[in-house]
Amino acid sequence: EGAAAMILQGVPASAGYAIGKARVIRKKDHSRQPVVRIAPSGVTKELERLEAALTRAADELSRLHAKWIRDNREQEAEIFEGHLFLIRDEELLSLVRTKITDELLQAEFAVGEAAEAIASRLSELDDPYLQLRSADIRDIGDRICRCLSNKPVERTESNNEREILIAEDLLPTYIAQLDEAAVIGFATSFGGATSHTAIIARSLGLPAVIGAGASLEQVKDGQTIILDAVAGTVILEPSEGDLARYGELSEQHLRRMNTLRSYKDRPTRTSDDHLVELTANIGSVKEALSAADQGAEGIGLFRTEFLFMERNDLPDEEEQYRVYRDVVQAIGPEAPVVIRTMDIGGDKELPALNLPQEQNPFLGFRAIRISLEKTDLFKTQLRAILRASAMGNISIMFPMISTMQELRRAIEAVEASKAELAEAGLPFNRAIRIGIMIEVPAAAIMADRFAKEVDFFSIGTNDLVQYTMAADRMNTKVMHMNNGLEPAVLKLIHNVIQAAVAERIQVGMCGEMAGQPLAIPLLLGMGLQKFSVGGGSVLATRERISRIGRRESQELLKVVLELDDPEQIKACVEKWYASRQMDL
Ligand code: PEP
Ligand code: MG
Repeated sequence: EGAAAMILQGVPASAGYAIGKARVIRKKDHSRQPVVRIAPSGVTKELERLEAALTRAADELSRLHAKWIRDNREQEAEIFEGHLFLIRDEELLSLVRTKITDELLQAEFAVGEAAEAIASRLSELDDPYLQLRSADIRDIGDRICRCLSNKPVERTESNNEREILIAEDLLPTYIAQLDEAAVIGFATSFGGATSHTAIIARSLGLPAVIGAGASLEQVKDGQTIILDAVAGTVILEPSEGDLARYGELSEQHLRRMNTLRSYKDRPTRTSDDHLVELTANIGSVKEALSAADQGAEGIGLFRTEFLFMERNDLPDEEEQYRVYRDVVQAIGPEAPVVIRTMDIGGDKELPALNLPQEQNPFLGFRAIRISLEKTDLFKTQLRAILRASAMGNISIMFPMISTMQELRRAIEAVEASKAELAEAGLPFNRAIRIGIMIEVPAAAIMADRFAKEVDFFSIGTNDLVQYTMAADRMNTKVMHMNNGLEPAVLKLIHNVIQAAVAERIQVGMCGEMAGQPLAIPLLLGMGLQKFSVGGGSVLATRERISRIGRRESQELLKVVLELDDPEQIKACVEKWYASRQMDL
């Protein structure tokens, strides 16, 4: 055994592995350069230089934009389209001009200082969109400065070695112009998973570790390193064993990713050509962005309670409205977005409400039960959702519905909220679709009645399984019974799907079971129309569904419904997969 390798920890931003030589990019430290000032008589000339540089920068950006459009890389094209707008940003430009005319700064310094001032203000705000914009402003500042001094874009000079870039931060412009053949990954000290740098890395399929902090200063130019962008680490001084192990992991990963990425912009259809909808479950705007990047067709479940948790006050209508609107913008105005009203209680606490401790929190004052009692809270949320519905394809979903009376009262609250907005003259979608989670056995049993009064069902197996089996989803002692393959659970799900199909309403599933390989063919066999899964499972689920036929899954289901032992059911589905040469 040689010396142990050294492992630096960061955050995985774009999954994958790379083994190669480190190429360390150190930032020029502008702050240490003496500021250059101009004479008052030079102001006009300086402003002219600025204008010329802005025109040059805009030309560059248009060319870049056109290039990405030609290459069918819409996401990258959009980023540079955004930069084209920002380069004419009045706040930025008037600050630059003031610095030239009043402080007599040379244009390069005026641009640098103004961009930095705006960017650092934006990055301090707790809003992922504005944080993204702060990186964009810095990027634009750099571009204008470069155009002022007439320098061409810096390119990495490759000597055909496989290089891993190591930097404090990499601007989107830089990443987008990398010599793709030579650069096989990168690691940065700063950045977040939703920065444009990370988004571009993902769309280029470049493994990337970000936010590794000052530890990256230990990396020396030219040394061989391993980038493990699945675990989010950089490995220095790897042993022969490490190199061999990662060589193999890397090959496996590439093969798998190539297959999966090819499913990104496709519809989800079974091998015998039945279309299903495949959406993502999210708890934040950040997750909506990554769901879009993972090829989700929409948002099947937005767990809004996360907006209310881990804080001591309540988000008001405006704050909620902005979040719902941002989710719509992240996934696209046409894409379906199902917003679930808050599901507090059970394992989710809400400090601001000061709810008492309960003996059986999952059977207690929870979700819609709280909303129907605290109607101000409920209607604030409903108005925020309704207002956002003017901007996209939003539906409302109620959690934990057990009785028809609850549903009717919840619908009344929606109607009352609509009336308030109409009164205030605010726009909303009058025909907004309303659906319910089917996660309480009472609702699953009464599905035929519920189907007459709602637009859609979404089966929440995380709760439905625990309530059906009387096996707490948090209790490891009874985990063996908390199993979606229990025949009682399968029978109940089947009943719900049949009731929805009979009434011609949409039926989907947003519990974890929707993404489980063992469950997918059974659900297809039952006629489930919509699968909503965690963002990271979208592509794998689409691939799996594409390789399964509805007909053959109906036959499998028939066999499975005759069995009474979940172990036998599992073995039966495993055998079915094996006979199709499909992995689980
Ligand atoms: C469910 O119960 O299946 C569900 C999706 O809701 P949650 O996990 O938020 O309770
Ligand atoms: Mg639930």
